[in-house]
Parts: sequence; structure tokens; C-alpha cells
Amino acid sequence: MDYEAHFKGTIDKLKAEGRYRYFTELERKAGQFPLAKDYTHGKDVVIWCSNDYLGMGQHPALIRAMEEAIHTMGAGAGGTRNISGTNHPLVMLEKELASLHKKPAALTFMSGFIANEATLKTIGRMLPGCIIYSDECNHSSMIQGIRNSRQTKLVFRHNDAEHLEKLLKASDPYAPKIIAFESVYSMDGDVSPIGKFCDLAEKYNALTYLDEVHAVGLYGPEGAGKAAELGQMERIDIIQGTFAKAYGVMGGYIASSDAIVDTVRSYAPGFIFTTALPPVIGAGVLASVRHLRASDAERTKHQERAATVKKRLRAAGIPVMEESTTHIVPVLVGDAVRCKQASDELLEEFGIYIQPINYPTVPRGTERLRITPTPLHTDAMIDDLVDALSEVLGSMNLIRPHAVAAA
Ligand SMILES: *Cc1c(COP(=O)(O)O)cnc(C)c1O
Repeated sequence: MDYEAHFKGTIDKLKAEGRYRYFTELERKAGQFPLAKDYTHGKDVVIWCSNDYLGMGQHPALIRAMEEAIHTMGAGAGGTRNISGTNHPLVMLEKELASLHKKPAALTFMSGFIANEATLKTIGRMLPGCIIYSDECNHSSMIQGIRNSRQTKLVFRHNDAEHLEKLLKASDPYAPKIIAFESVYSMDGDVSPIGKFCDLAEKYNALTYLDEVHAVGLYGPEGAGKAAELGQMERIDIIQGTFAKAYGVMGGYIASSDAIVDTVRSYAPGFIFTTALPPVIGAGVLASVRHLRASDAERTKHQERAATVKKRLRAAGIPVMEESTTHIVPVLVGDAVRCKQASDELLEEFGIYIQPINYPTVPRGTERLRITPTPLHTDAMIDDLVDALSEVLGSMNLIRPHAVAAA
């Protein structure tokens, strides 16, 4: 077999479909977020698609904490959690997260992806005969974890409590059950019916597993997430989050009961057999979580900026998807090749960076530009965004003129 030709063929297939992933080489400018240097074109650009939703990655309190930590504790963790890697900032951080979510315990991981994969796999395997009910739009990391649990997976229609109940009702009433879902879905920006799912979990005696990756730091009192905002947090058995989005650094976590957290700590290979997060990361994240517990200013400004961008784009006839009730502003293009082309033109001609979102991240035919306004995007930047999108999407006949007239 010609292995090289075979793998080249797999790549050619992606290119032919227009969904080959080209990475843009950027250098974020601390102190000037959302500006970055675009190395490919050698100029400054405005980033409009960062998951550093609040710009915390450059916050002075974080930088200070991380600088202090690196000078006092050095660069790395020195080992797994078992092999001398359980550093003080990480333990403090886990206490902070438990307190944030009002749970007895929390556990950190190298990433949010690993937190999902390791936890769902482990708790699934530890429950013989378990059935896992999974929203059809769940993130790849949850899907991997559920698959690796080797238990029965039943997929319910996105955010559909009726369909979920149908599946629960038809299941063995004595089988252990887990309902796995997200609070804010990051591609459409819609929110799950957390209360209804918790009602069903109670009725059918299921555990609830909630990915709050796109909500922690951003919603609810002290940034505890969507479940907290909706008064449902104590009904969620396992809350999962990341430090890489609103908290601006990297790493992931779960918060849950003592027994569940201890089970994952004791049995999950993805937790046990990998080096701990370094103290410098722990210290930075701790500073970020503490800051966002004490301050609402970033959250308030974030919501205002997102609402303003949505309103301005809609008024210009730009097809903002209706599903979003959150900070995420998806603009429908509906075709992989055109989506990439729009993204290229925005970058090259207007200095605006919004990466194209294609299948399999979103269904075919719903390819989009996913815009994430932050508190640090200025009015002038919004003006530029509206003008640039009007021109680029206008040349593709994607502007809705009736919407312009109505606005
Ligand atoms: C980004 C993301 C993750 C993974 O988090 P990382 O910390 O980036 O690994 C998990 N779930 C959802 C829904 C995500 O969007």
C-alpha cells in the first residue's frame, strides 16, 4: 500500500469540499486585546472570534499572579498529581471551584476536553448497565467520553425534553442513567432547558451531567454559570467547565459530590496518568476565577457588546441566526466554500479575523461565521465590522434587503 498517497487522498477530499482547515498564524498583543499581529499578511488585525470571551487573558491580576508564581514555583508541575504534582495553587483552585458551584468537591484536568472525556468514561464504566442520554449537539469531548464508557448511548433531539422523556420512559427503570448536555451551545448560541431536564432526571432517577464551558465566568451570580443563573445549579450532579474560555488561560474541571469526584480522581486514566497543571497556570486561573466572582463589570459589558453587535448586524440585513439568545453571534453563510472565501476577504481586505465554521462542527448547509464580541471591542471596531460584513456578504448576495428596510 502507498501510505503517503492514501493520506494525501484523505486531505484532498477535505480540500475538494472546501472544508480543509487552514490555520491563521496570529500573535495576541497583551494590553491591546482584541488586536493581534497576523503573521501571514504582516499586519495588525481585530480578532472577532476569540473564546477569550472577556479578554481575561491579558488581565493585570492574572498576569501578576502568573509572574509571581513562575518566580516562586518555577515553570512546570514536576509530575502527575500522584507523583509530586499536587501543587498548592491547584488545591486552592479546586477549593475555589467547589465553593463557586456550591459543591463539596472539584477536580482539575489538563483541558476541558479531557475533563469531559475522562469523567463521562469513568462514571459510565463505574455504573454497570448504565444508559447515557446525550443531546445530539453535544461537544466532541462528551461524545468521546460516552463512547469510551462502552455503555448504551441514546441520543435525544437537540434541547428536546419531550424526546428525552420518551427515551427515558422506554428504558429499563432499574438501569442507572446519566443525562449529558450543555448549558450554552457554542455554535448556535442557544440555551438548554436545564430545569426541564432536571425534572426528568428526578422523575427517572438519572444523574445530570452539564457542560458549562461557554457559560462559566459569563453567566449567573459570581459567574457560576447558566444553571446558577436559572436557579438550577444544586440540581446538577456534575458540572464541567474550562479555564480556557472566559477565564482566559487553559485547563478544565468538574465540580460534584465527594464520592463522584473521588471516583474520577481514583479511576480516570486521563486524570491519573498525565502531568498536573503547572502552579503558574493554577495561580493564573485562581486569580481569574476570584476576579470574576467579585466583579460583574466584565459580564455586564460583555452582554451589552454582544447585544449591540447583533442589533447593528440585523439592522444592516446581515443574516444573524435567530437561535442565539446569548453572547454568541452566528452569521449564516450556508456553504463551505463561500464561508471560507468570506473569512479570507475579511482578513485580507478589512483586517478582521473571523474563522469559518464548517462541517462537522456544524451541519452541512449551515456553515457560518461565528462572531464573539468581547467587552474590549470598541464602537469603532463594531462600525468597521458592520461595514466589512455588508460589503463581503453583499457581494455574495447574502444580505436580506427587506430586513434593512424594516430596521
Ligand atoms: C471548548 C469546549 C470544550 C473543551 O474545552 P477545552 O478546555 O478547550 O479543552 C468542551 N466542551 C465544549 C462545549 C467546548 O466548546
